Amino acid sequence: MTRLVQFALLLTAVCGMAQGSALEQEYQDIEEKVITWRRDIHQNPELSNREFKTAEKIATHLRSLGMEVQTGIAHTGVVGILKGNNPGKVIALRADIDALPVTERNDLPFKSTVTSEFLGEKVGVMHACGHDTHVAILMGVAEILSKNKDKINGTVKFIFQPAEEGAPPGEEGGAALMIKEGVLQNPDVDAIFGLHINSQTPVGVIRYKSGGTMASAQRFTINVKGKQSHGSQPWSGVDPILISAKIIDGLQTIVSREMNLTNEAAVITVGKIKSGVRSNIIPESAEMIGTIRTLDYDMQKQLNKRMEEMVPAIAKAYGGEATIEIVTNTAITYNKPELVTQMLPTMERVAGKENVQTQNAITGAEDFSYYQEKVPGFFFFLGGMTPGTTESYPHHTPDFLIDDSGLLLGVKTLTEMSLDYLNQ
Ligand SMILES: [Zn+2]
Ligand SMILES: [Zn+2]
Repeated sequence: MTRLVQFALLLTAVCGMAQGSALEQEYQDIEEKVITWRRDIHQNPELSNREFKTAEKIATHLRSLGMEVQTGIAHTGVVGILKGNNPGKVIALRADIDALPVTERNDLPFKSTVTSEFLGEKVGVMHACGHDTHVAILMGVAEILSKNKDKINGTVKFIFQPAEEGAPPGEEGGAALMIKEGVLQNPDVDAIFGLHINSQTPVGVIRYKSGGTMASAQRFTINVKGKQSHGSQPWSGVDPILISAKIIDGLQTIVSREMNLTNEAAVITVGKIKSGVRSNIIPESAEMIGTIRTLDYDMQKQLNKRMEEMVPAIAKAYGGEATIEIVTNTAITYNKPELVTQMLPTMERVAGKENVQTQNAITGAEDFSYYQEKVPGFFFFLGGMTPGTTESYPHHTPDFLIDDSGLLLGVKTLTEMSLDYLNQ
């Protein structure tokens, strides 16, 4: 090793340490602000595609940091663009901002008492998935990074996305619409990071999975056509209820007999079946709807193909007809393994090696997956369960609760991941 190289390495090490400690003070200083923002947003939740006040607060904050700000993207989405002092890659950070039609049951000083209308009904509104924490964390990251532009080689795009929980019927929304409106372009995004707070992971802990992390959700509709007859004379008709039973049975064998379940999990659920009017009539038709969950695109392709082959074939075998339509609602939240490997040292440095843990795949879905269809991405889970407790309520429930003390780790992790990604 030459003297020059030794000196360069020493300089890098010292600068690295100096940078870490400089930001450490900024992290400590911002925690209270982040918690205040979170509590304010928690107390003023807004439903998907109706996040008007939330978006206004975000835009005002980003503008106050001197950032280029775009509003009204995918209805209420806000994007901030922060250019570093030096040229380089473009990293995007995404927070979802919508709340749910749930009435809060927690006894908190910042409890939500907001009500709204959802599908024609009056409902309570609550940040029952913790997106309030995502907003506050990303506002904190934006503030810290905007004050450290000299440390940024490249650009950071802050994506505040509406309607992750799904747009109201008849409306577009969420990640898919943001992408359609060009959020990943101009400047073109090289990679994207996102996190989800988790009420059942302890504060201080980060959990992740490489590869398929959250499932693709597909909805299917099956229409079975038989021939109506008197219930006492099945031989003069074709029974669509019996055919439906055979189809349900057949579909489950695709999962249990044809999928390589040691690779990834797969689920087919028939959630609704509708047929007939009274006891002594064999009806003309039956309809079934259901959901498919997959974590691997090859498995999804195979599973869809087999469903499309099997449904009409079973109906035909019993003298009827059946069609199936499959619609994809959400893609696979796929963490690109190379990107996970690249960013893991940063996460371990920030959270402590023992606090960065792997986890099993989740068969729930997340629309962050749409960004990952276009650019490499890493989506991970941040602990929000009060230290010392062993039990907590799941997401989307009236008692769902996130401990504020978990937020700072989110700020640190996203900030350091951005800097490391851009400066590596
Ligand atoms: Zn949710
Ligand atoms: Zn969520």
